[in-house]
Amino acid sequence: MTTEPSIVQVNKEQCRNLARCLTVLQVRPDRYLRRPADEIERRPEANFWFYVTAICQSTRTFEGTLNGRWVRGWDYLVQASRRRIEDFNAERMQAYTAEDLRSLLSDDLTGAHSPIDRVEERLEQLHDCAERLRQHCGGEAMGIYARCEGRLVGTGGLIELLSAFEAYSDPLHKKSVLLAGMLHEIGVWPLHDAHNLKVAMDYHAMRVALRSGMVEVQDTDLARDLRAQNTVSDHLNEVVRSAVSTACDIMVQESGLSVFAFDKLIWHLGRSCCFYEHEPICGQERMLKGCFKRDRCSFIQATTYRCLNVCLFDGVCKGSRDPAYRSYWETNVYTPHY
Ligand code: SF4
Ligand code: SF4
Repeated sequence: MTTEPSIVQVNKEQCRNLARCLTVLQVRPDRYLRRPADEIERRPEANFWFYVTAICQSTRTFEGTLNGRWVRGWDYLVQASRRRIEDFNAERMQAYTAEDLRSLLSDDLTGAHSPIDRVEERLEQLHDCAERLRQHCGGEAMGIYARCEGRLVGTGGLIELLSAFEAYSDPLHKKSVLLAGMLHEIGVWPLHDAHNLKVAMDYHAMRVALRSGMVEVQDTDLARDLRAQNTVSDHLNEVVRSAVSTACDIMVQESGLSVFAFDKLIWHLGRSCCFYEHEPICGQERMLKGCFKRDRCSFIQATTYRCLNVCLFDGVCKGSRDPAYRSYWETNVYTPHY
């Protein structure tokens, strides 16, 4: 991993301080994960998550009403896709058209009503996944697992095998660890070395880490660019993501939560209290005003947090008290990886 302390530095002490806020917290089971009963059920479940995770980048435009409820982002992607689980096989995916994808990801299965963007990019990812699965893994996601023999890292491990697919070629493996973590959790891809799993590095985790002080920005140009949401280079993006990943390792270790649980926690926090569409929900003023998004907050659904109208990290997080931290954003890059 790239570490450049002159650009960003992991603040270990602050990670420990924040981790102490998590020691009494539990993360509830993921409501989208289903544990298959047998081998017959494992096969479609593996395929479903393999293709859905493959196109899980920048889901900001994904939103609509499914099953009578307004949902967005990952929730929209998963719930909409579940309606047509029979589509998630190599033969069908290889023949998928832009219209098929738009139709899959629309409230009423009508392509013209789809909210999704970057359709061609996602379609190419699906085609590449299907083609390579057919060439190397008998057309089945379970074929990848069979080849890695239950190992996540190292030569011939799951991470390396997944990296051959365009959709999973992120140098920091965001989609790979997300997929591996979910399938390990439901016993579809049980891993011998699950301790090597990492927190999935996406924009929510980055935003929380930069604002909270888990990672300190040393370079003044980068600090300016993060605050102004200016585009940064891929190299700088990787430097920041690597530091956030290391900081998350410390948080996992210090909190006693599993990687899987902490991953869910920071992700839900980043899309609830510390979301990109509004001011962070923390600080004295906010506590008095109350929280305006309690009815759609996924953090309180996903955890046992008894919220008093402010973020769990309020007071400990540097951003909750200091505007210089609060004004950070995740790196602004165009990426097919997260
Ligand atoms: S305390 Fe505020 S700035 Fe810090 S993570 Fe929570 S919402 Fe974001
Ligand atoms: S209800 Fe609580 S946890 Fe959810 S967004 Fe509001 S302050 Fe954050």
